Formats: sequence, C-alpha cells, structure tokens
Amino acid sequence: MLNVYLDDFDLIRVESNRENEKFLIWNKETVVELSKLREYKMDMTTVYEFKPHFPIDLSKEYFVYNQFGEKAILKSRNIVRTKRFDEEFYYEGPLGCEYTQKETTFRVWAPTSSDMLLKLMNPTRTTKHTFRMERMSCGVYSVTVQGDFDGWSYMYIVKNQGEWKETVDPYALASKVNSTESYVIDKKKVRLVDEVFPIDELPMIDAIIYETHVRDFSIHKDFPFRHKGKFLAYMEEGLQSKDGKKIGIDYIKELGVTHLQFLPVFDFSSVTEFDFDESYNWGYDPEQYNVVEGRYSTYPDDPYCRIIELKQTLAYLRANNIGSIMDVVYNHVFKRDTFSFEKLVPGYFYRFDDENNYIDGTGCGNDIASERKMVRKFIIDSLVYWMTEFKFNGFRFDLMGILDIQTMNEILETLRKINPNVYIYGEGWNMPTGLLESDRTTQENAYLTPEIGFFNSFFRDIVKGSTFNVYERGLAMGNLHFLGAVHDVFTASIHTCYGSPKQSINYVSCHDNHTLYDRMRIACSEGEVRPFQKLALAMTVLSQGVPFLHAGCEFSRTKQLHENSYNLPDEINYLDWSLLSSEEELWFFVRDLIHIRKMHKAFRLDTKEDILNHVVVNHDGHMIHYHMNHVQYLGGYDFYMVIFNITNYEHELPLEGMWEILTAGEEIQRCEDILKVQPYEVKILAKNR
Ligand code: CA
Repeated sequence: MLNVYLDDFDLIRVESNRENEKFLIWNKETVVELSKLREYKMDMTTVYEFKPHFPIDLSKEYFVYNQFGEKAILKSRNIVRTKRFDEEFYYEGPLGCEYTQKETTFRVWAPTSSDMLLKLMNPTRTTKHTFRMERMSCGVYSVTVQGDFDGWSYMYIVKNQGEWKETVDPYALASKVNSTESYVIDKKKVRLVDEVFPIDELPMIDAIIYETHVRDFSIHKDFPFRHKGKFLAYMEEGLQSKDGKKIGIDYIKELGVTHLQFLPVFDFSSVTEFDFDESYNWGYDPEQYNVVEGRYSTYPDDPYCRIIELKQTLAYLRANNIGSIMDVVYNHVFKRDTFSFEKLVPGYFYRFDDENNYIDGTGCGNDIASERKMVRKFIIDSLVYWMTEFKFNGFRFDLMGILDIQTMNEILETLRKINPNVYIYGEGWNMPTGLLESDRTTQENAYLTPEIGFFNSFFRDIVKGSTFNVYERGLAMGNLHFLGAVHDVFTASIHTCYGSPKQSINYVSCHDNHTLYDRMRIACSEGEVRPFQKLALAMTVLSQGVPFLHAGCEFSRTKQLHENSYNLPDEINYLDWSLLSSEEELWFFVRDLIHIRKMHKAFRLDTKEDILNHVVVNHDGHMIHYHMNHVQYLGGYDFYMVIFNITNYEHELPLEGMWEILTAGEEIQRCEDILKVQPYEVKILAKNR
C-alpha cells in the first residue's frame, strides 16, 4: 500500500505499510529525492512528511517511488481546502456554456486536474466530437467551438489524480432525462414576454406563504387536473371537485395567500424521470443545481420543455398576484462521490474534519463547504440564475444553519441588487458542522443576519407543543402552562431572538413532521381537534411576523399519522381536495383571517420599535389578550384586540367603550360592556377612540 497526498503547497504526505523508506518524486521531466521532515505511525500505517524543494504545479502529474520500485501518483488532498488555494485559484468570471449561433464557449473550473476534454453529441446521437480544453488562469479549462450546437448534449472528461472521469457540467442549465448529460441551449428560446417583477411587489412582512409540492398538488386521481403532478397543473382554472367546490389554483386565489413556496423544483435524483408513476420523493436530494427537475415537465427528455413550463407557471402566478418562493438545498448533495463538482475538484466541495473524514451535520453524508470561495460563488451564481430567469421572489434555505453567515449576507447583498425586495429565509437549526457556532446562520445568530428570516421554532413549539414530544399540548391545545410565553408568541420573538418581525416565519406545520391535523389527532380528543386547529391557525395568521401555512393545513390535511413522508406513496402525500367540502368551516375561517390580516396593517407591523410601542399581550389565566394600541396612523382602527379563549368554558370580558367585531364580510357587529367568548373561540375586535 502506497498513497501520496499533496496536503499543502509545501507538504507531501506519504502513507505506506512499510517503514524507513526513501522516496523519489518524478514529473516526467525530472527526478528529485524527497527529503523527509518527519515519520510517524498512525495505527498500522507509516506516515512520512516531506517538503518539496520545488513548487508543485497542480496542472501536472507527479509520481512518487520508494526504493522497492513501488509507485503512486501524487493526489491533491488537503491542499484544496487551504486558504492559499482559495486565493490563488478563485475565479470571478462566467462558467458553464455560453451559446451563440456561430460558436459556443465552455468553461469549467478544475485547478487540480491535469487534462480536460469536452465531448459533444448531436440530438440524434449520430455525431460525436471531442475537443481538448485549454487550461487558463485560475485553473479554468476552456474551449470555444465553431458552429451551431443548439440542443447538443455535452460532457466534460476530466483527468484528476491520474484517473479519467466523465461528468455533467455543474453549471449546466439543461439536462438530458435523469441528469445523465448536460445540454447546450439557446437562452433566447426560453425567454417569455412577461419577465419582470410585479411593480407592486409586497414587502416580506405583508406576505402570507403557502408551502406546496408540485406532485401533491394535482396527483390525486379523483380530480380533473389535465397535467397531474406537473407544473402546468397550477395554471388549470375552472376545476371543481365532484360536489362543485373550486379546487387547484382557483381555490388558492380564493384563500388569499400571497406566495407559493415550492418544495424542490431543481433537479433531484432519488426518483426516476422516465417513469412518472414510480415512487415518490419530496426532492431534498440535489443532483444538478441549475437544472429544472424533469419529473414535473410534460417532456422530461426535451431540454427546453421543463424550463419553459416552469417559467410559464410562475409567470401565470405572477399575473394573478401570487408570488413564488423556491426551496433551495445548498447544504448537501445526494451522491457525494459522483457529484459533478467533486469529480472536477475532489475534496473541495465538502467539509472535512482534521482526520479527513467527511463532516455530516446534515445527516445526509456530507455538508457543503459554503465558506469556500468557489462554492460560495457557485451558490450565488445559482441563485442569481433562478432569480433573473425565473423571477422567483425569494428563497427558502433548507438547513440554513449549515451555511456560513458571510455567504448568506453576500447572497442577500447580491440578490437585492436584482430585486431589492427579495425574501431570504430558512431553517436556522444549529447543527454540528465544521464551522464555529458564531459563523453558522442559526436562529441564535439572527442578530448577525438582520435581513434574513428564520422558521420560528419557539413559536411552533409553544403554539402546537413540542415537535419531538407529540403528546405535548401547545397553547392552541389549551395548555395553560404555556400562557407565560404568550408575549413571545404574538410579538415575533423580538424580545428573545429576532431584531425585526420579518425575521420571524411563524408556523405550526410544514412538510416535515406531522400535519397539524394529525398532530392534533395524536395529542387531543376527537372533539377538540377542530377548535384547536382554529386556535393554532388564528395564532399563526394574526401574530406579528410572517405567517407560513403548510398546504392543506386549513382543510385538515392528513398524512395518515405518518411523521416523515418524504418517500411515501401519493396516497399519503397528495392533497385530497374533497376535504374542502367536509372542512369548509375551517378553511372559510382561515380565509377570513387572511383577509383580515391583509385589510389591517396592525397585524403586520414593520419594525421591532412598532411592536414595542403598540403591542401589548397578556392573559387572565384562561384567555389570551393581544392588543395593538394607538395604531390609527396605519390607516385602520386606533385599537385592536384579539381574544383567544383557550379553555373549554365560556368567559366574559368587561369592555371599555364600543368595539366592533371584525369579520371578513361587510356586516359589522358592535359590542359594548360585556364580551362573551365561547369555549376555544377567537374574537377579533377593533375600535376608534
Ligand atoms: Ca431529476
């Protein structure tokens, strides 16, 4: 056994099962003896350290011999993770392929590779060309090919550590079915007429976000979607359930949410694109970051189709005043060893510990090293692409706590230059990744990313009860022990965690864990489930901060008590629109709350100061009293009061002055002296002085 690694610009480590060896290094031109710095044992292995007497050229191959004639190629290892490597090889310019009718240029970053070929194939696969790529500065390989290569597929063949490997382009924008080849496309052909952001785009605090999965939305066999499980289903108007209820996008419009947050729509790899009926996955398994997932297009093997269909869908939503948010997963990849970036620059894309083991804070086998300069650039370039081409209004970052704060702040800064109103938020969980805790984009560090939002787990666990103890009842399940936390719940955790209400994404359920309905079925009796859902959803929609709703939570969506449905069949995951009939009372209630939130700015205060100045939250041991005082300057009433009765008893509340009971309808009811609040009831009142 003989392995030789380049661990720094001036450090070669040899690992061998012999002892007291001598080594020569040879680069096909000269032979030099290596002079030893140290030799030590690690378990059964002997480790030798050498400082080479000449600069190692990363574009060349070196071989190391011992006195027994055994030979090994010098492999770049820790060197790619040194600061100097990042500084010397950082490349600012464009990567990927750049098409014109006359010629196409390909650029790929691979500083440790000694050779690179480009393979081009025509659409009918009758012609193949191979071109040698030229090494430029910063370790970029490039070639410009004369002719029109629109619709041709291409691959890079890279030589690293003495081995040839074929890979797709990490910067590819189009792909063959199942991610097997990259495609050259003409970006002009995917340009739509409507490619502007809506002028009256909402500030984030005014958003009401609804989380949707493309397949779940329309795959149920009982409903008349023509494009079941496809992007295009979001454009199908006039659909009804058997008993005549509006479903699909017509329903979403009536519900009144402002933004759809899509579970992954970039290319993921866990399920085939050939057989649409085979298996299911949410899609948190990235394969090609800048390619649209093929499963959701009507022709997955057409490189253009999926791009155009997603663009059309988002443009349709925009035209109907519904924004879109993309769920992005820059924390891990699905196939660590065969991911394109890894084949091109082995060991650069992930985090490693001091013993060269992969760090696995994500639990997915790898953590992406966002702090490395070319990884950071890759992430930012990718987001810029999705934003400029597809006009996403914002991005939801999966396991954002894995990403470093500098990267997140640079993302924000870059995207704001394109759209000053971009929404950036994510899961700020603190996980053991290879970053100092102070560098992680976590809820605890929210003050370091004041313009970035977080899924508010405090809100979630107080309102619904612990996510990890499913029998615990939250505030919305009548748990009076949590009354002490009401202030935090309704004020966007500004006293405990966040610097502004828009940092707080208020939610009680999402694609992860039980649906709200299932969680309540586990922890509560049957008769309690509906009133408790109402309490939980009213707290979500009316609290300060940004409300987030898991699709169907407002009509008792069930996953049959499954807690983690990421790869379970459609029958568990799909939306069953027939529930709109049986759960009409519940979703009407949520629709009306959404309407009230949108009508009255007092529920959407912009700053921490506004909350400190105007919001008072307290309780009387049975009911929560949530007040907004002296807010007439916002254009509505001067005083608002929301009462949540979280007990099973009717309570009376003495009132000062004449209040109006707010409803979504026209009819105004007035109330003075005494307010009667029914068990588990929510009353929304307002008055002027
Ligand atoms: Ca795929």
